[in-house]
Amino acid sequence: MTVNEESLPYTDSQTEVTNSAPLYFIDNLGVNLQSEGLSLGIVSELSVTKLSLLALCPKKFYYSQILKLDEDIDTFYKDHDIEVSKRVGTSDAQRGTRVHKEIENYINGKEVKITDFDTFDFIKNLIDKEVSAGKELNSETEIKFSFFGQMVTGIPDLFISEKDVVLEVWDFKTGECFEDDKTQYFYQLQAYAYGLQSIGYKVNETIRLSIVLVDSKEIVTKELSMNEIKNELYHRWLNLSDLSTQKLDHCEICLYGNLCHKQ
Ligand code: SF4
Repeated sequence: MTVNEESLPYTDSQTEVTNSAPLYFIDNLGVNLQSEGLSLGIVSELSVTKLSLLALCPKKFYYSQILKLDEDIDTFYKDHDIEVSKRVGTSDAQRGTRVHKEIENYINGKEVKITDFDTFDFIKNLIDKEVSAGKELNSETEIKFSFFGQMVTGIPDLFISEKDVVLEVWDFKTGECFEDDKTQYFYQLQAYAYGLQSIGYKVNETIRLSIVLVDSKEIVTKELSMNEIKNELYHRWLNLSDLSTQKLDHCEICLYGNLCHKQ
């Protein structure tokens, strides 16, 4: 094999390491855009939550879901006392799980052990309104579908139908929600709408997607046609073929900030 030494990130004769980009910045390691017959199956199965990292940054998705660096890099930072910027005020995971369980039990008519009456009342009123309007509510139903060739699983918090036609998908979120969080959460909701349609649910041509922010008692909503949803999902999926480093607001608090940008 002939190697063009000029293309290497260091010169062997001087054994001097330069500041050139590492190999994985230069070569996308085989994740290429194909002109036809696109099939980007990259891992055996992916959750909608992990898939939605793509909406934040394809490079982050690549580090996290293909190279599986999350745990290693976290350990590396701890071992070397490297401080990583983190957002303050985000919800703790246990509380999120508890609130989701309360909502699920309430929708399914089961006993609810309420831990936060104020939050619960807000959700209860929203749900009661839908039930009084004669809507059908489906909570925490697991779905599995092909996402442009990649098997994806997910559990939408809630989807709402009328006469067996899905009209809305909701996602309940605890804690603070920043702009880039919303981008990621809407990607999840779009993937759920697409997934429901792919596995045979009748989905309205225009669907309402809602992020319900239970702590701030806000609802952030988008209405999109299924065509818009498919185009957006596909467009983001194709971004995986471009792993160039970007300068995004999210870089400030990204676990991989040290890998992508000089600190
Ligand atoms: S630091 Fe920025 S470019 Fe790098 S993975 Fe994170 S979000 Fe993407």
